[in-house]
Amino acid sequence: MQIEPSTIYVVPTPIGNLADITHRSLSVLSEVELILCEDTRVSRKLLNHYDIDTPTKSYHMHNEHRTVDGLVEQLQQGMSMALISDAGTPAISDPGFLLVRACLQAGLRVITLPGPTAFIPALVQSGFPTDRFVFEGFLPHKKGRKSRLSQLAEETKTVVLYESPHRIVKTLAQCAEVMGPDRPASISRELTKAFEETVRGTLQELEAHFTAHPPKGEFVLVIQGKD
Ligand code: SAM
Repeated sequence: MQIEPSTIYVVPTPIGNLADITHRSLSVLSEVELILCEDTRVSRKLLNHYDIDTPTKSYHMHNEHRTVDGLVEQLQQGMSMALISDAGTPAISDPGFLLVRACLQAGLRVITLPGPTAFIPALVQSGFPTDRFVFEGFLPHKKGRKSRLSQLAEETKTVVLYESPHRIVKTLAQCAEVMGPDRPASISRELTKAFEETVRGTLQELEAHFTAHPPKGEFVLVIQGKD
């Protein structure tokens, strides 16, 4: 595969099952000069699994503001780089947007490869309409949370949210309160992993389920739009 100079490749990586990476992604990761990783230790497992020994560098939410200009400069000098996150597609509830924007503003080439992301399989297997949907990522933890929930309660498209295990019950309870306990929803957890599971029911039923079965793993919450 021909890697272009002065180009940043945005490369999705598996969300659990290491086999979920494309041939093209592996070629890019092998052939670029540098891989920017959210956490180099996490990515090392994937890279070792595929015998990729490309040099890596950290690029995460705590250093992205101060490193972005230097990276753009290196790219302008002709370097090729790939950007990966710990799991899934960079820039989707992960660092990446700032660098992509800065590269485009500098006239550099950005090539985003298709590949794993958690919200698409969760949306499709929810069984809710997929022709139009809103991806909300993580809800704000404090400031703005209530008003976001109130807006989402009126949303007629399918709503997709990311959530962590220690907040999922609270989020379900708050959604049930604002959207009504009978609103149909679906939760997919541990997608592509050994204990992958999708539980469907009303918001109230899901709250009861995850209160009785303390949640583990990573979650995508999909809520049917308002009738
Ligand atoms: N960039 C990633 C993507 O493209 O999906 C998302 C990264 S975000 C920091 C992590 C969140 O994604 C988790 O809290 C969870 O909501 C969701 N997620 C990631 N992997 C998942 C999996 N295997 N099963 C279910 N949800 C997952």
